[in-house]
Amino acid sequence: MDRQIEVNGRLDGNFRGEGFGPLSGGFSVKAKSGMIVFSDEANTGICRSPSIRLTGQENSTVSLFNVTIGSRFHWERTEDQTFKGDLILRLRTDGTICAINEIPLEDYLKSVISSEMSGAAPMEFLKTHTILSRSWVLAAIGRKKKTKETSTLAEKTTERGGEVIRWYDREDHDLFDVCSDDHCQRYQGITKIISERAEEAVRETCGMVIIYQDEICDARYSKACGGLTEDFATAWDDKRVPYLGTISDASVPHQPIGTEEEASAWILSDPEAYCNARDQHLLEKILPDFDRETKSFFRWAVEYSRAELEEILREKSGFDFGILQEIIPLQRVPSGRISRLKIVGSKRSMIVGKELEIRRWLSRSHLYSSAFIVRAEADRFILHGAGWGHGVGLCQIGAAVLAAKGFSAEEILKHYFLGVEIKKIY
Ligand SMILES: [Zn+2]
Ligand SMILES: [Zn+2]
Repeated sequence: MDRQIEVNGRLDGNFRGEGFGPLSGGFSVKAKSGMIVFSDEANTGICRSPSIRLTGQENSTVSLFNVTIGSRFHWERTEDQTFKGDLILRLRTDGTICAINEIPLEDYLKSVISSEMSGAAPMEFLKTHTILSRSWVLAAIGRKKKTKETSTLAEKTTERGGEVIRWYDREDHDLFDVCSDDHCQRYQGITKIISERAEEAVRETCGMVIIYQDEICDARYSKACGGLTEDFATAWDDKRVPYLGTISDASVPHQPIGTEEEASAWILSDPEAYCNARDQHLLEKILPDFDRETKSFFRWAVEYSRAELEEILREKSGFDFGILQEIIPLQRVPSGRISRLKIVGSKRSMIVGKELEIRRWLSRSHLYSSAFIVRAEADRFILHGAGWGHGVGLCQIGAAVLAAKGFSAEEILKHYFLGVEIKKIY
């Protein structure tokens, strides 16, 4: 949890901090005049410091109440979460509190695998995801160390001449390595029972990572590519990452999308693709409960009245377009996603990018993806789309389908990441 005014929770088992403890039971944490005040169940102040660490005895757990998950996505909600390991509370310069859980990497992975996907998913898929998540987090930590001196900017925005190009990356976590939400990898501690199969997947792949030219890969992934995966630069920085290029996520080679006609034909079709999964039984084994609420993700449609979309645009972009006249894709990228979109209104016209910003501007939460075509009919706008997420790197639904078909973790990873090797580094 970050940037909180107050943190509430419960300690189960005995916890100690510097100069206090043992403690257990409910607690509350508030920021007061440059200090964090930690109080027990009876609201007695136990400790005042800008930084507090609580270490539990073995088998102790700490629960945090009202943790937001799926922040700003359509599945956003709050839940109480339980963790093993240490709880660190740090005061930010703006007077808010950051709550950090410190645990060994392999324990973190067991939780991520249980949080991101159902424990009933095919074993090779759980192994695939473990290697993927391990690579991603090690690469993120490595990158953070490297960029510390140069730049910690996570949100890159260019605003000029009616054009807003914005993208978000992960170097904004100054006090900790990774956050617990979908922004990094969903980590819910031991809130969900860690399945034996998740533990097995972590144990069997211990220390294994994806390597490209002697470096651990920045292994990105999203829910469903829509049939073609996407280039790194579509979602983030304008650089070429050789192993994060577009591929056909099918047993047949689908050609990358270039023109509007191709995009239209692709999005309105029902192509053969690994993530075009119709096997409801398999999907139920892959997706944790709340993601199953998302029914249609390979091909989808959203419909707005003109007035509704005008209001969403005003609220999400901060600009008043007046009467909405046209939505024009300016740049299509290989998976059919739009990376620059022009919005024409009676009061102003603007260009927006990259993919996530487009998805934010055109929905109360987020559009599933920026791979869509727009049909304007009378006073309505209908968006037909493909895929769920940015589409870069591994396609989670596709990978699970491949695992169910009998492909190994190594084969699956090599399908999505071009020219890589799988190596055990510890
Ligand atoms: Zn994050
Ligand atoms: Zn896919």
